[in-house]
Amino acid sequence: MKLKPDFLSKLADIVGEDKLITSEASTLKLSRDYAWYSPFLKESLASKRADAVVKVQDEASLEQVIASCVAEEVPVTIRGAATGNYGQCTPFEGGVLIDINGLNEIIEIGDGWVEAQAGVRIQTLENAVRKEGWELRSYPSTWVRSTLSGYIGGGSGGIGSVTWGRLQEAGTIKTAEVLTVEDPPRKFRLEEEAARKIHHTYGTNGITTRITLRLAPKADWRQIMVVSEDWWKLMDFAAEIADDKSWNKRLISVHEWPIPSYFKGLKKWIRCDAHLIFFEIEESQSEAFKAFVIKRGLEIQHDIEPHEPRKAPMYSDFTYNHTTLWALKFDPSFSYMGNRFDRTRYKEQMQAIKAEFPEEVWWHFEILRDYTNDQPIFACLTIFRFTTEERFNELRAFMQSQGVSTAGAHTPFLDEGLHTGDLDAKLAVKDFADPKGLLNPGKLKTYKPGSYGNWAPQSIA
Ligand SMILES: Cc1cc2nc3c(=O)[nH]c(=O)nc-3n(C[C@H](O)[C@H](O)[C@H](O)COP(=O)(O)OP(=O)(O)OC[C@H]3O[C@@H](n4cnc5c(N)ncnc54)[C@H](O)[C@@H]3O)c2cc1C
Repeated sequence: MKLKPDFLSKLADIVGEDKLITSEASTLKLSRDYAWYSPFLKESLASKRADAVVKVQDEASLEQVIASCVAEEVPVTIRGAATGNYGQCTPFEGGVLIDINGLNEIIEIGDGWVEAQAGVRIQTLENAVRKEGWELRSYPSTWVRSTLSGYIGGGSGGIGSVTWGRLQEAGTIKTAEVLTVEDPPRKFRLEEEAARKIHHTYGTNGITTRITLRLAPKADWRQIMVVSEDWWKLMDFAAEIADDKSWNKRLISVHEWPIPSYFKGLKKWIRCDAHLIFFEIEESQSEAFKAFVIKRGLEIQHDIEPHEPRKAPMYSDFTYNHTTLWALKFDPSFSYMGNRFDRTRYKEQMQAIKAEFPEEVWWHFEILRDYTNDQPIFACLTIFRFTTEERFNELRAFMQSQGVSTAGAHTPFLDEGLHTGDLDAKLAVKDFADPKGLLNPGKLKTYKPGSYGNWAPQSIA
């Protein structure tokens, strides 16, 4: 869409000339995230871009930018660090992309919680709370760049989720302060259960300015790399440690050979033909844990003692969707799928899929905890070799026939993707916060304005 010169001048007055970007090349670059992981999204999203990007430095100018956009009925999309995987911060209908990295103040660290502005980086947050004796319950492997509101808006869980569950669970999101997309915007605060309504909504149901997270007590984590040439022995061990709550752990990440061979940064410690697990185990238990590894007939290939602040090499740089990144660097024809295996049948499910697709599929599991039934989840970011759409559909259909869920890593639509919680309840917030439908338009296929029951927050500024 073409933005009027008067409108652009107004934006420049609010944020400053140097914080307004309009060149086609720069807006295109800033509109992209990691959707290129997907052979489908890579093509379909290639030309989508904002008409202008503004970098806001304080909440007052954020409110003024929103008001100006609403007055002109210009679409608004929020950008954190743009590390999402599905084009979440890519504007589909142009308009203004608001970069919130300038809102990066940590407001208060309390007894088991932290309140911060939306754009604070996760690594900054983790380092700050560690100094006060706490740590984040979970963080994404992109923690160096990811923003707080980007993780809440686009992410699902990460390092720590093996104990504390995903972001959607366990009261991790304590409060959220949200702006409506109106002229002028109104501010409302959501608490506890209600605060989770802004989670995993791709920034479609309000603009978050502040978030409070509950924390875990700080621990010192030893990173331990366990290897075996026997895949099933290794999987059994991962399941055993996941089940046993007496092991205090922050990470269980399991990788089938040859995936470890793609981990260039760990090259000198990778053993040819060996499958591996990355663990993070509390330091006080690490000697007992190592002895237990040996008792189970597995080997310790490498370990890293706790260090503060945490710095590379970190095994977590090779986990979650970083694993996919290392694989893609090795061979761009790889892609990935988000799968969930059945807790009791995962072996037979894997065997059936491997028998059908022996040269196309490799396993990478992240073990998480499901708070609804207090059981580990066997989440697999399966690496597969992409050839054609037809073959991809065959693989997906076969996985589903085996009872393996196949989440939507290849769709940019919130209602087709991985759902967390009650989507209708989240859309009720959208009805209230975005009455003109200007917020990140195009990300919802089934949304019907006004159909979600007149929700309103308890208090509004
Ligand atoms: C290599 C790699 C590894 C990854 N590992 C993980 C992982 O371990 N766990 C995980 O969950 N994800 C992971 N991801 C996905 C991604 O990193 C996370 O979703 C991440 O935390 C997003 O943060 P961001 O700041 O980059 O958000 P962005 O990508 O900038 O934004 C994400 C979404 O949130 C919305 N948003 C951002 N700020 C606001 C706001 N203030 N108000 C309203 N909406 C807002 C955006 O509009 C967008 O829809 C990974 C991705 C890559 C490429």
